[in-house]
Formats: sequence, structure tokens, C-alpha cells
Amino acid sequence: EPELTGDFATLMGWADGFRRLRVRANAETPLDARTARQFGAEGIGLCRTEHMFFDEHRIQAVREMILADDEAGRRAALAKILPMQRADFVEIFNIMDGLPVTIRLLDPPLHEFLPQTEEDVRAVAEAGGLDADKLWRRVRELHETNPMLGHRGCRLGISYPEIYEMQVRAIFEAACEIAGAGRTAPIVEIMHPLVAKGEEMRFLRNLTDRVAKAVMAERAVELPYAVGTMVELPRAALRAADLAESAEFFSFGTNDLTQTTFGISRDDSGRFLNAYLEKGIFEKDPFVSLDQEGVGDLIRIAAERGRAVRPGVKLGICGEHGGDPASIQFCEAIGLDYVSCSPFRTPIARLAAAQAALGEREKDR
Ligand code: PEP
Ligand code: MG
Repeated sequence: EPELTGDFATLMGWADGFRRLRVRANAETPLDARTARQFGAEGIGLCRTEHMFFDEHRIQAVREMILADDEAGRRAALAKILPMQRADFVEIFNIMDGLPVTIRLLDPPLHEFLPQTEEDVRAVAEAGGLDADKLWRRVRELHETNPMLGHRGCRLGISYPEIYEMQVRAIFEAACEIAGAGRTAPIVEIMHPLVAKGEEMRFLRNLTDRVAKAVMAERAVELPYAVGTMVELPRAALRAADLAESAEFFSFGTNDLTQTTFGISRDDSGRFLNAYLEKGIFEKDPFVSLDQEGVGDLIRIAAERGRAVRPGVKLGICGEHGGDPASIQFCEAIGLDYVSCSPFRTPIARLAAAQAALGEREKDR
């Protein structure tokens, strides 16, 4: 079991005395959540729920949902997933013991849950008792040339609200169960991915509030919660004022924001990146160390415009950059509230946040 002990723990304690930024972790499994806490994370800044759907039992139900002909069919498949999702959240909330947990609703395109070749389709259909022809047809229907720019993120939740309704229900049923059992209720933060427009945010906010209130009324439990958005598209950053009308927090998804700002695929950047690094066009890999110029400008603009409408809007970062010291320094300089990084980077982030805070103090002298 990882643990911070001895001089290392002492050093971390000192660092915590200096830092202003809160440090959270990206975690969606109980193991990650435990590691995050052992390394001093003060909450979960990004719980990627899609990772909870790849499990063997679940992927079968997800496939049934994708194969359904109508909303009723999708709802029937989602009803099978609901208790499993609820159990996921009960476990994570228990581990986090009252700390904030930001849960991001389903993000990837649906084809990621399906086999991709005709041969695999036949095998999967046979193993799961599914209609092979229909499955293959659906695979082709869902095919997208640029899936990262396609039917993913909140677009899925808007096309098929029943998916997000199931997830919000699972989250609040779990939270109410814990509170009802007398344990410390989690601070629930529901986060919507890939939002670009205020209209999307308003739709999602209404959906979230409606389901949250229904569950809390059923259980006779009142819990505070927040609804917010990832800011991971340039349009979201530019239109942050509109988003802040219905979003209580922004979390900068700098993986997608870097991809969409540069127009460079986060998955294939290696094809030319080395040449760019060699020729000095890039000083650093922008997917590792935040581009403090263009991407940084968008973050600054979003912070400023969001705060103009909602002065207390909570601001964090949850892309890979949240665990990179130079990027953390930037987050401190522009006054974000927290960084969220992979559990094993939490100590680095705590140290970097302390150094960044000291650096800012020097500047003020
Ligand atoms: C991001 O885009 O920066 C992000 C944190 O989300 P994901 O990596 O899951 O797309
Ligand atoms: Mg993203």
C-alpha cells in the first residue's frame, strides 16, 4: 500500500502550510480513490464515469442499450446498470468520507463500447445473445470519421437524456444512502463534459436538478450539491459568462482544450511532435506542459468572464497538466481554486503548489 511516511510526510506537511491551491485527484476506482487519500488528495476533481462501464457485466447492458430501438428499450437497459452505478458511488463516497467528489457524466462516443470488426461483432453477439446483424448495422451507423469531435460528451446526454438521468439518479441515491446511514455525506459535484453553449448547460442543469430533487424527495434527504461544466472547448472558454449563468464551477479539461486550440490530435501528436521539438517550434510537449500562451489565454478569459457573472465560480483544472509543476505555477498565478491530477502525482502537486504560492508572494514584495 502506498503511504507517505517519515521525512517525506514531514516535507509534505510543510508544503501544505504554504500552498493556497487545493489538490484533488482524478479517480474512478476504489483503489485510485484510496491511493489519492493516502497521498493527501483533498477530494476527487475528476471521476470519469465511462471507465465504470467497461466491466464485463456492464458492457453487455451498455450494448443492449445501444441496440435498443427506442427510448423505452434504452431505459430498460439503463435500469440494469443503475444499481451497479449506485454501488460504485457508494464505495467511492465512503472512501472519500465527506470530501468533495466531482463526477463527470458519460463522455466517450458510444462506439467505444462496441466491437469494431465484423468478426468481433459476430463473436460478441454470440457470447452476449445479441442480434449480430443488428449489432453490425449499429456499429456502421455509429461510425464517425472524427469521433473526438463527434457524438460524445454532453452531446450524448442531450441526444439521450435517459443516460444522464440514470447517472444522476445513481449518484444521488448513493449520496442519500450514505447520509441516511448516518455517515458523512459527500459533497457532490456533477460535471458535464464537452459543453460549448449556454443552451447545452441550461438543458443539463435542468436535467440534473430535476433528477436530484426527485431522488432527495423520495428519500427525504436534503443534500447540498453543485452542478458545473468542463471547459475544454475554445467556445466554452470564450462564452464562459453564458455558461456561468447555470454552472457553479468550471474545470479546465486541458487535454481536450489543448487538442481543440491547436487542432492537434491528443492521440496522434507524436507523428510530428518530435520534429517540432527538435526544430524549436515547440519548447515542450503541450499535452504535458500547459501552453501558457494560447491555451493559457483561453483559461484566463474563461476565468475572467465566468467570475464577472458569478463571482464565486469555483475554478479547477483536471487535464494531465494538473500534475505538472510548471502548469501548476500558472494555475496559482491566475488564481484557480484547485488542481486535480492522477493519484500518484498528488505529492508532486502539493509541493509544486507550495512553491508556486511562495513564488507569487515573492512577486508581491
Ligand atoms: C480533458 O479533456 O482534459 C479531460 C480531463 O477529460 P478527458 O481526458 O477524459 O477527455
Ligand atoms: Mg476531455
